[in-house]
Amino acid sequence: MIFRPRFHIINVLDIDEKFLKDNGIDGLILDLDNTLSLHGAPAAEAGIPEWLDKMRALGVKMVVVSNNTNHRVAPLARKLGLPFIANGAKPLTIGITRAIRFLGIPKERTAVVGDQIFTDVMGGNFARTQTILVEPFHEEKNLFFKIKRAAENIVFRRGEDLSGKKGK
Ligand SMILES: [Mg+2]
Repeated sequence: MIFRPRFHIINVLDIDEKFLKDNGIDGLILDLDNTLSLHGAPAAEAGIPEWLDKMRALGVKMVVVSNNTNHRVAPLARKLGLPFIANGAKPLTIGITRAIRFLGIPKERTAVVGDQIFTDVMGGNFARTQTILVEPFHEEKNLFFKIKRAAENIVFRRGEDLSGKKGK
């Protein structure tokens, strides 16, 4: 199912060595806004830099793919020491495919991680990576996002299972 994430967790901090090992994930293709930071914020959320260090120490390869502009993505990705692809055009597979190639890992052993069904989850499913849906750090207030979140709710009910167990 194209709208269904393989995993649904609260946030990236839930991704640990055991989770990656159990699920055969060697590389993470990370969304930026509301996955690593608040939307548009110049710094990552609490705990994220330390989590990134932990992932690096485990040898996990990571790259940011954001639909946001280079102007937005570059400063924060650089601050976090992450390679990045801006204007990622998710759910199209262009950016994700570039990211997979960059990581040099079979797509099945990578996971797209993000907070949106219609970009992150769909993009990963189209590209045949694993997919991990996280809860956004912040509920967006503008109408466009409200409509988007309502539409997401129709295709995938959040909040039902945040155990990180494998979905159907
Ligand atoms: Mg996002």
